Amino acid sequence: MAYDLIVIGGGPGGYVAAIRAAQLGKKVACVEADRAGGTCLNWGCIPTKALLKNAELYHTLSHRAKEFGFSFDNLSYDWSSVVGRSRKVSDRLAGGIEFLFKKNGIDYVRGLGAVTAPGKVEVTAADGTKTQAEAKHIIIATGAKSRQLPPLPFNGTSVISSKEAMVLEKQPESMIIIGAGAIGVEFAYIYNAFGTKVTVVEMAPTMVPVEDTEIGEALEKSFTKQGIRCLANHKVTATADKGTHVEITVEGAKENGTLKADVCLVAIGVQPVLPGGEQPALTDRGFIQVGDRYETSISGVYAIGDVTGPPLLAHTASFEAIQCVEGLFVEGHKVRKVGNFPGCTYCHPQVASVGKTERALKEEGIEYTVGKIPFMAIGKAIAAGEPDGFAKLLYGKKHGELLGAHIIGDNATELIAEMGLALDQELTAEEIHSTIHAHPTMSEVIHEATLAAEGHAIHF
Ligand SMILES: Cc1cc2nc3c(=O)[nH]c(=O)nc-3n(C[C@H](O)[C@H](O)[C@H](O)COP(=O)(O)OP(=O)(O)OC[C@H]3O[C@@H](n4cnc5c(N)ncnc54)[C@H](O)[C@@H]3O)c2cc1C
Repeated sequence: MAYDLIVIGGGPGGYVAAIRAAQLGKKVACVEADRAGGTCLNWGCIPTKALLKNAELYHTLSHRAKEFGFSFDNLSYDWSSVVGRSRKVSDRLAGGIEFLFKKNGIDYVRGLGAVTAPGKVEVTAADGTKTQAEAKHIIIATGAKSRQLPPLPFNGTSVISSKEAMVLEKQPESMIIIGAGAIGVEFAYIYNAFGTKVTVVEMAPTMVPVEDTEIGEALEKSFTKQGIRCLANHKVTATADKGTHVEITVEGAKENGTLKADVCLVAIGVQPVLPGGEQPALTDRGFIQVGDRYETSISGVYAIGDVTGPPLLAHTASFEAIQCVEGLFVEGHKVRKVGNFPGCTYCHPQVASVGKTERALKEEGIEYTVGKIPFMAIGKAIAAGEPDGFAKLLYGKKHGELLGAHIIGDNATELIAEMGLALDQELTAEEIHSTIHAHPTMSEVIHEATLAAEGHAIHF
């Protein structure tokens, strides 16, 4: 059977590419080695958010019940049910993608896909059976997997990746997390909320190092208050996996010595998952190299999502999917590469940003004004019992255009959507402040921070 398009990988890059091509009337197959939905739905974005919801609920009830007027004799949780809810959520959503494949007439092929030649894909099923298929176009969307720390290989019990961290049978008493990026801090919040003694070790000067420095510092303060030990600016100098526990030696301002814990979660980034067969040219970090239309070095073969390198996010993978497919099948479509994109971290407090950090503006010599408002000044935040955090907006000094938005606090990951649109549409402080924001909402922090950038905040 000859297809218009075969997509290898069924994550938010691959399944979106397959569905969009089918919507455009194309004959499509999607080859998936594991389960539709990819890392995102099965082992990433979605199951972690389910665990985070449980963690937040438990943390509120166990630490703030009195404040909200609750009392009870026994508060307990069942770890396997906590994990079970997260797996159920993943299953439901992965099933939803399989339904969408059916609805759109997409052939969903289970097995490992390999590009054997331009236009040719070989699929190896779980039982070893091989089948061949042909297509005018092939998109590789095989994603990425956790990177190991070379002297400390994953063993699934004492040294784990994010995948195992989602399904540990027993909650560990103590955990060291190496890496304070989004994944590291989300798990730090989850495990600490349930009472695991958590230490986070980060080599960079601040937590969530890609974020604005003030945001990283504020997260460290909040985490420390919650009982998480934060060792930013600390180097790991030695590791030992003792089977029943791990020993991690660190060097830095706060700690110079060996830390011990039941489990070490290594969250230092990812490496690409390349399909078998003919290999396209790679970047120096080993990701698939793509051109302006997402084309690889193999004729008729394209690549999108995590396998092509940063940004390593579900929404950028889906954006690339649409761009790549419309570039192939919609005449005259002007293919876009990822420009501004929101980055969200769902620990508590949440962190979200879009555009440039203050650090980057300084480095680039761009003149800017800062509008910063704490959630404490926002009525809805007080009513919700969430006064911690702030919004920091960066506007161009000369033209007043939005350059960057950085939010830490409750609902930051929802609030950032408005800032993404504003940045994409090159809105100015005046245009944003003259937009009426509903009262009482958390979004008033955007309005107020914009007024602050102009020097006339009302509530602060
Ligand atoms: C713990 C964790 C939390 C995360 N949280 C977020 C978040 O909150 N927000 C966010 O935007 N991003 C998050 N991410 C990142 C996000 O999951 C990825 O950026 C996203 O899934 C990338 O999509 P993709 O389609 O490129 O690859 P993937 O989702 O990884 O999908 C690739 C698919 O290809 C399949 N595959 C691989 N090789 C083959 C082959 N040879 N043949 C057939 N199939 C193959 C794999 O089984 C997989 O299903 C998180 C990641 C992790 C690990």
